[in-house]
Amino acid sequence: MTATRLAEETKGSRLTERFRLIGGWVEKPDDLQPELVGDVSADVIVVGAGFAGLSTALELTALGAKVIVLEQEFAGFGASGRNAGYLAGSMGVEFEFFLKRVGHEQAKGIVKFYDEGVTYVERRLRELAIECDYNPSGLIRAAVHPSQEKRLRHSMELGAELGSVTRFLDSAELRARGIPPAFLFGCLQHGGTLDPGKYVMGLRRVALKTGVKLYEQTALLSYSEGPTITCKTARGTASAPFMVLATNAYTPQLGLLRDKVAPLRVSAIETEPLSKAQLASLGWAGREGVVTPHWTMESHRLTARDTLLVTTKQLGYAYGSQTPNQPDAAAYGALVQALDDRFPTLRGIAIRACWSGYISLAYDALPVVGATGPQQNILYTAGCSGHGVGTQSLVGYLLAERIGGIEHPLLAALRHKTPSTLPEPLQWCAIKGALMGANGMDRFVNRRVRGAASG
Ligand SMILES: Cc1cc2nc3c(=O)[nH]c(=O)nc-3n(C[C@H](O)[C@H](O)[C@H](O)COP(=O)(O)OP(=O)(O)OC[C@H]3O[C@@H](n4cnc5c(N)ncnc54)[C@H](O)[C@@H]3O)c2cc1C
Repeated sequence: MTATRLAEETKGSRLTERFRLIGGWVEKPDDLQPELVGDVSADVIVVGAGFAGLSTALELTALGAKVIVLEQEFAGFGASGRNAGYLAGSMGVEFEFFLKRVGHEQAKGIVKFYDEGVTYVERRLRELAIECDYNPSGLIRAAVHPSQEKRLRHSMELGAELGSVTRFLDSAELRARGIPPAFLFGCLQHGGTLDPGKYVMGLRRVALKTGVKLYEQTALLSYSEGPTITCKTARGTASAPFMVLATNAYTPQLGLLRDKVAPLRVSAIETEPLSKAQLASLGWAGREGVVTPHWTMESHRLTARDTLLVTTKQLGYAYGSQTPNQPDAAAYGALVQALDDRFPTLRGIAIRACWSGYISLAYDALPVVGATGPQQNILYTAGCSGHGVGTQSLVGYLLAERIGGIEHPLLAALRHKTPSTLPEPLQWCAIKGALMGANGMDRFVNRRVRGAASG
C-alpha cells in the first residue's frame, strides 16, 4: 500500500465517526406514515418513494388515478435523499458509450430526454411551490489539468452533434466568475444545484396533500403477475391493475433487472459551514456546481448552508448486487484528498458528515425504463446513473402518461436493448477491474496536478 493510499484510508476511517446512515440532507419525518396492515387496492401501486416514485404518484393522481405508494423506510431514504443535488442535463453523459449501439437519431432523443429533465424539474418546483434552495447558476464541467482538455472537447463536440447545448469557458472566464483556481477551463450547461432533501420531502408533502396513500416502513416482499397485481408486504397486501417499480438500485433484489443493471455505491462528504473569511477566500460568487472530467468525476459545490459538498470520485460495488447501508472509509478518504487538492485554502476544515448511497448502472450507461409481465402492466425505471434528479423526476411524468395509454416520444426514445450483465463472480471482477482502471487513470492526472502545484 503506497503512503498516499495509507494516508487516504486513515483519513477515511477517522471520518466514519461522521457517517450518517440516511445521508446528510434528510431526517426521518415526524409524520412517518404507518405501515400497511391488511388488504388494500388502488388503480396503481408505486413501489419506492424517491424522485421517480413520488413523481409518478403525483402525475397519476393529477390524472385522477387512485395511487398507493409502498416505501420500505421513508420517502427520500434512497439516493433521492442522499445525492449531490445537481440538476444536470446531458452534460457529462458518456455519449460514446451508446452512440454506436442506438444510432444518431435515437441518441438525439436520449440527449433530449436528459435535457428535458432539467426543464421538467424547474417547472415542477414552481407548480408545486417546493422551496429547495434551487440555484439556476448553470453547471460547469471543469478540468483540473491541461491533459483533460481533449476529453472535454471531444465530449462537447459529440454532444453538440446530438443537440446537447454547452459553451466552452476558458480560464479568463472561469476567473471572471470567481471559480476557484484549481479549475482551469471547462464547459457550461443550463441547470443548477438544489437541496435534494428539501426537494424529495417537498414531493412527499404534496403527495400526501393531494391524496396519495403512502405506506412507509412497508417493504414489498413479493408480487404476483396477471391482470391484477398483488403485492405482498409483511402485514398486508396491495392490489392494482398496474404496478410501477421505482426501486432503482434496489430492483435486482426483487428479482427484476438483475441481468440489466448493477448497483454502484456513490459517496459524499460535507464540510462544516465555511466562515465568512473562508467563503471570501474562495470567491465563487455564483456558486456554480462544478464537476470534473475525470473517468470517475469529482463534484464540488457550495450549499445554501455554506458548507462544501464533495461527491463521487470513488465508486463501489458489493458482490451479488447487494446494497449494504454502511460507511465506505476508502471513498471518504479519497474525497477528503480531493477537497484538499482543489481547495488548499480550506485544508484541515472539519467534516460535518459523510454518507453513501446507491445508483444503478446499465453496461451501456443508458436509462432502463420499460414494462414487463404477461399484461405489460409492471413498469420499471432504473439507470439514469448520476442524472436522476432531473431524469427520474421526468420519468414519473412519462410513466403516468404510459399508464394513461400514451407513449410520449421521450419514452419511445429510451426503448433499446439493454446489454445483459455478467453472472457473478464475473460481474464483480469486471466492475472492480473497470473501477480500478478508472481510479488508476484519475490518480495519474491528480499526481500531475500535485506535481505542477509543488514544482
Ligand atoms: C452520493 C450520490 C450523489 C448523487 N448525485 C447526483 C446529482 O448531483 N445529480 C443527479 O442527477 N443524480 C445524482 N445522484 C443519483 C440520483 O440521486 C438518483 O439517480 C436518483 O435519486 C434516483 O431516484 P429514484 O427515485 O429512481 O431512486 P431512489 O431515490 O433510490 O428511490 C428508491 C426507493 O425505493 C425504496 N425501496 C427499495 N426497495 C424497496 C422495496 N422492496 N419495497 C419498498 N420500497 C423499496 C428505497 O427505500 C428508496 O426510497 C447521486 C446519487 C448518490 C448516491
